Amino acid sequence: MEPSWSLHMLSEILSAFSTEDPDNLRNVLNRVAESVDAEVAAILCAGQIDWCIGLSEADQTHLVQQAQQQPTDIQIRSGALHTCWAPMGRRDVLFVGRLGERFDLEERALLRAMARSIELSIKMLRAVSSERQARKDAYQQATHDALTGLPNRRMVLDRLRSAIDHPVGDESLVTAVLFIDIDRFKWINDAHGHAAGDQLLIHVSRILKDAVRHGDLVGRLSGDEFIVITRTSDRNAASELARRIIAAIRQPLRVAGSELSHTVSIGISFAHAGDNPSSVLENADMAMYRAKALGRGRYASFHSSMRLQAQQRLSLEEALGHAVGNGEITTHLQPLFRLSDNTLSGFEALVRWQHPQLGLLLPGAFLEQAEDSGLIQDIDMTVFEAACSAIAQWQQIAGLEHLRLSSNLSARSLADPRVKERIKVILETTGIQPTNVYLEITETTLVEDIESTVSTINALRALNVRLAIDDFGTGYSSLLYLKRFPVGVLKIDRSFVNGLGMNPEDEVIATTIVSLARALELEVVAEGVENQMQLERIRELGGDYGQGYLFGRTLSIGDTERSFIAPRRPTAALLTTP
Ligand code: C2E
Ligand code: CA
Ligand code: CA
Repeated sequence: MEPSWSLHMLSEILSAFSTEDPDNLRNVLNRVAESVDAEVAAILCAGQIDWCIGLSEADQTHLVQQAQQQPTDIQIRSGALHTCWAPMGRRDVLFVGRLGERFDLEERALLRAMARSIELSIKMLRAVSSERQARKDAYQQATHDALTGLPNRRMVLDRLRSAIDHPVGDESLVTAVLFIDIDRFKWINDAHGHAAGDQLLIHVSRILKDAVRHGDLVGRLSGDEFIVITRTSDRNAASELARRIIAAIRQPLRVAGSELSHTVSIGISFAHAGDNPSSVLENADMAMYRAKALGRGRYASFHSSMRLQAQQRLSLEEALGHAVGNGEITTHLQPLFRLSDNTLSGFEALVRWQHPQLGLLLPGAFLEQAEDSGLIQDIDMTVFEAACSAIAQWQQIAGLEHLRLSSNLSARSLADPRVKERIKVILETTGIQPTNVYLEITETTLVEDIESTVSTINALRALNVRLAIDDFGTGYSSLLYLKRFPVGVLKIDRSFVNGLGMNPEDEVIATTIVSLARALELEVVAEGVENQMQLERIRELGGDYGQGYLFGRTLSIGDTERSFIAPRRPTAALLTTP
């Protein structure tokens, strides 16, 4: 057996097997037979006719039956077939010579040797391909995200680096990075379970893949953060892509039995020659933060001024940890007016952070961090307690006995089993009238993790406090809870109040909410009433209460006392005389 010949065969076999063609074995065996120059009439492999030439059906059947005994000669009708038995791994291969032709010794040796080499080759091939697969798997794992199959952070950075280092010839093309973050993903995950969260992630990854062009890269950085790397001829094209992605993801998706519509916030940055890939990502991340701060569901492009803000945000997170204990978390109040007679009916407590360096911060600047870090429960209770103790005192004043307090409760507070006890203690120690206490939760909060939510809600029911549904109309509505839970108030989100008298859609939504509230015997508070026209319209529609700049802005407890309470004290006249 010449070595070159054997090598040649081996390469034939390898190439035949690597194509994963079901006819491979047959082809290989044929090649084997051809290569030994033997006149082969048939090849049996594992007891089955694999290939045959010029044998009748009856002879083939006879051949198969005889083959089990591994004979050297088989008698068929037209004469004797001489065979060569060649074991090949677990398969038994029988080469059958042409009628009357014997395989000579050399041919037999070659056929057996070839069969063995095929067996070896198959083994080798399996080993090689399983090793190759393992290496491929390892590479896939190291560079891709298991859930969505998208390139991971490492590969995103690699690709970004090569895009920066090897710009394509065309000078006019720039590399744009889109940093895409699903809004309120934490909530979706908590409320609908991780399986639903995963489904959403996969959904978003598909939309992104559909939105980009061939050659662009879509990756997943971590959690709900995705990246698109694209080459564009002008900066507007990147914004256009961001707009398309936002619009596509906004389309409702059925998750865990309910229709959810989602938004993403996108930050855009551009890579320049010599840039560090990580900082290009960071820039896009900062721009994404800006998009969120502007109200989510939109995009923003990076600007160098954002770096400073990002540093502030980081230190903000640290400082928030101390703020609660340091008494920097303060409670402000915004008045609520009854529309029928324009009288003060109560206040909503709104948190403020008196930051030692940055001054008075609004909730938008720190609530998300508070939720993420789990400080929100403490903040909610701090605000609630301060508001209760102020209002409990004011309820002592003649004519203000029914002063209401509305205080916000975050999803995490509602799900925290310790919170109900803290609320109970606060109600008792401050002595506020519980029936005039409303805890505001957003409609999305209610459907969240129903088990822990229900336990808190039942405790609140037992305490005689009531629920107000905040930002009604903006969330994931399930009207069932309005009946099932002790809900007393619906608050029409200010985005709808804003368009009253001008925008027909807002009119329809506000009208629907009011009639829904009527049917369920709930009161309606219109939020964000800023002008007389809105006030008139909400009155006409039948709203019960109004809140907004028209009635009064948010003030500290002290300022609230001076502006709204002092004038109503019986002794007001005395106090105001110099
Ligand atoms: P919200 O509960 O919907 O509170 C109403 C927000 O609208 C307040 O913003 C208020 O200042 C603002 N607002 C009131 N009237 C008007 C108006 O006429 N026009 C406009 N444009 N805005 C008006 P703020 O204080 O920045 O609070 C923002 C959000 O932060 C609140 O929205 C609430 O969801 C959350 N929040 C505030 N305090 C707390 C708290 O103690 N705990 C929790 N969990 N969330 C809170
Ligand atoms: Ca509220
Ligand atoms: Ca609200």
